[in-house]
Amino acid sequence: MGNDSYKDAIAGLSKLLSERADLGSVAASKIKQVAAELEAAGSKEFDPAERIRTGFFHFKTEKYDKDPKLYGALAKGQSPKFLVFACSDSRVCPSHILNFQPGEAFMVRNIANMVPPYDQTKYSGAGSAIEYAVLHLKVENIVVIGHSCCGGIKGLMSFPDDGSSSTDFIENWVKICSAAKTKVAAKGEGLSFEEQCHSCEKEAVNVSLGNLLTYPFVREAVVNGAVSLKGAHYDFVKGTFELWDLDFAISPSIAI
Ligand SMILES: [Zn+2]
Repeated sequence: MGNDSYKDAIAGLSKLLSERADLGSVAASKIKQVAAELEAAGSKEFDPAERIRTGFFHFKTEKYDKDPKLYGALAKGQSPKFLVFACSDSRVCPSHILNFQPGEAFMVRNIANMVPPYDQTKYSGAGSAIEYAVLHLKVENIVVIGHSCCGGIKGLMSFPDDGSSSTDFIENWVKICSAAKTKVAAKGEGLSFEEQCHSCEKEAVNVSLGNLLTYPFVREAVVNGAVSLKGAHYDFVKGTFELWDLDFAISPSIAI
């Protein structure tokens, strides 16, 4: 039960108390006691360990124990069809919005769902995930999912381009998609900052799709038809999801 429900319940009881002056004293004191209990429960401090325990209990009883066939197969290995890049934003979990079941999608989540270009030193984290997914798991689809109101993209669009930096990591990271910022700035005259950010959310996905082609094993898999690259944008304000195929003309910064 959320806090609002507790508040509503308490407010309802208080109203009842004030309206029904003729309530017997026993009933009135009982109502007061219930109201106090509700208040105590509502103001209980958030317990992260308890939240995790109840969350896993729910998963274990409602999902894991009910599907031994699926979880038995997954105990032996995984064969996901998708490698997904999504933002770390807590509102855009691909398993939630696309109903991916365990074993369906190998996932990388980072600030603004960016795929960095091939660089064995700077980006070994992303590179190793792509390498493992493509060469070992043999995923058939790589999907980069941007989203509405992305803080990382807003950062990319607002950080100064003069080389100065006020963050330890964020500016350096989101610069991966500075080609998208340049493109949006070039055609963005007359657009509000929000509209430019919205446009950049999609252009940055295209830059990431282009960056995927800087990995020789991705390039080879795409050329052989073993892997397809897809861009996507989830708008959680409107409740919509767009999906598109890699358009080689969209990313002029990448020469293939
Ligand atoms: Zn984001």
